[in-house]
Amino acid sequence: MEVDLHCHSTASDGALAPAVVVTRAHERGVRLLALTDHDTLEGLDEAWAMAAALGVQLVNGIELSCTWGGATIHVLGYAFACDAPALRQAIAELHDGRWLRAEEIGRRLEAKGMPGALAGARAVQQELGDSGNAPARPHFADFLVRAGHVKDRAEAFRKWLGSGKLGDVKQHWPTLEQAVDTLRQAGAWISLAHPWHYDFTRSKRRKLIADFVQAGGHALEVVNGMQPAEQVGCLAILAREFGLLASAGSDFHAPGDWSELGMYRPVPEDLSPLWARFQHGQQSAAN
Ligand code: MN
Ligand code: MN
Ligand code: MN
Repeated sequence: MEVDLHCHSTASDGALAPAVVVTRAHERGVRLLALTDHDTLEGLDEAWAMAAALGVQLVNGIELSCTWGGATIHVLGYAFACDAPALRQAIAELHDGRWLRAEEIGRRLEAKGMPGALAGARAVQQELGDSGNAPARPHFADFLVRAGHVKDRAEAFRKWLGSGKLGDVKQHWPTLEQAVDTLRQAGAWISLAHPWHYDFTRSKRRKLIADFVQAGGHALEVVNGMQPAEQVGCLAILAREFGLLASAGSDFHAPGDWSELGMYRPVPEDLSPLWARFQHGQQSAAN
């Protein structure tokens, strides 16, 4: 695909540095790219520099975590002003919250006989690329493998880090309304990320989309990587019904993973693409 509006770098939980993500996307034929790291703009400067060198059209992106209906959900923001005070403030709070969470995960693992977990996770993270952001659970998982506490990443999540486990430390996230409002104040185009990934009933998913529209959202991420075609079909129906634009992306995190840059199922042709709204040559305060 020539458009990819969802991917991650070492600025959050991806395995490749921002410049490497842009280069890889370019090599794979992506012409319009948004780097959407979790709750940070840290990777954007580096991504912009490489995009300019390669002639890739880059769009500012971010994937914000927030709460709705007792669940943590993700909202994607695009083509915003990086220097908007509301966005800067929200990201600073999330940054601090992620560090507090990482410290708590470290303490809990340490109490279970796995010393040096925070420093170890940080070392894993820094080997991938320099980042001022807190290490995330995948970094802790790799540390646990390295230190011999588990045999692989899957076991790390199954025993220690997965949902409901000791290392699944909850963070205080903004509400959906707050996250959308923050993005709107920065002039962003806003898409509800992977609406199928949440363990919701059909009616709860509809309610989420209705509330997202009410809050001021613009688009649904109708396609997230290689999710089953029937899910894409259902999300397309919802996008039509609610009059939402469609966004799409690979949600790439690492090579050899379940996703790859520029790879996702086709977007139904009758939907209005969100990316048609991005102004060509959009530059940002990050540049
Ligand atoms: Mn991620
Ligand atoms: Mn997500
Ligand atoms: Mn993502």
